[in-house]
Amino acid sequence: YFDVSAPWLNRMIERQPKQILRAVDGIDFEIGQGETFGLVGESGCGKSTVARLIVGLYGPTEGSIELEGRDIAGLSRQQMAPMRRRLQMIFQDPYASLNPRWRVRDIIAEPIRAFDLAKGQAAIDARVGDLLETVKLNARDGEKYPHEFSGGQRQRISIARALASEPEFLVCDEPTSALDVSVQAQILNLMKDLQREFGLTYLFISHNLAVVYHISDRVGVMYLGKLVEVAPAKTLFTTPRHPYTRLLLDTIPDLDMSGRERTPVAGEVPNPITPPPGCTFHPRCPFANERCRAEIPMPRPLSDGAIVACHGIEEGRIPDGPMLTLPA
Ligand code: SF4
Ligand code: MG
Repeated sequence: YFDVSAPWLNRMIERQPKQILRAVDGIDFEIGQGETFGLVGESGCGKSTVARLIVGLYGPTEGSIELEGRDIAGLSRQQMAPMRRRLQMIFQDPYASLNPRWRVRDIIAEPIRAFDLAKGQAAIDARVGDLLETVKLNARDGEKYPHEFSGGQRQRISIARALASEPEFLVCDEPTSALDVSVQAQILNLMKDLQREFGLTYLFISHNLAVVYHISDRVGVMYLGKLVEVAPAKTLFTTPRHPYTRLLLDTIPDLDMSGRERTPVAGEVPNPITPPPGCTFHPRCPFANERCRAEIPMPRPLSDGAIVACHGIEEGRIPDGPMLTLPA
């Protein structure tokens, strides 16, 4: 259904004086219709770049982004217009993405008008009212301005606006990260309900693994612009393979059932402009060897559906196990 594909695709190059940053490089994944694909990683790993590439806010310098087999990365603005209706994005900060000078009803009506999805003011008003109720707000809330709502309510308004264009695919970039934990859960549950009701497909991006686990069918782990592991959510959380995935999991208290001391992810994320050679995780990896320092690991499928880019896993010298045990 949705295929971000070809091995060296989605290279995002930002030119800075004498520097080239490949924000994402060698990202390759597919998202099935009605599926939620979670993308996790530390800040600066390129997750948001992937989101912006997919909705056409950035163009890839190489590679393809396919929707139902059609490459949308090479489309002109005009050709992209009908796709824009089908692909919508929800951002982290709902306040920044809602025009503070517009009433909520006008914010939600804008895509309905832009894509000509309802004729006449009465029909548009009725549709806006329905959308507000769909996200569990009151139709009368349309008269208010964004600042009159709480963070969670504002995210509901953003979702209503995204749904206004009757999309099939929502790219959600840290949609709950600015919210309190209890409100986060409400928004996640709302998103799950909407997915069921409208058959939506989600790309759900977050640095928070617990949130990603809660909502995703499959999860991709990104490190320095590359996918290092992709697996069904349950497999990833019960049998993480890549050392980076294991270290990330070790930092979530709720998911660590081992009761032992947690080891924080060692070291800093390297400068993406001068990534380390070989496996870019090698300076932080307790299993790094000579090959890791020289050769870039390619993604390899395992028998249970996981895909892992790691020499140590491929060579069988990193034992399987729910958590990483640092070598003595
Ligand atoms: Fe560690 Fe080597 Fe695997 Fe990279 S390829 S994660 S350095 S074992
Ligand atoms: Mg980001």
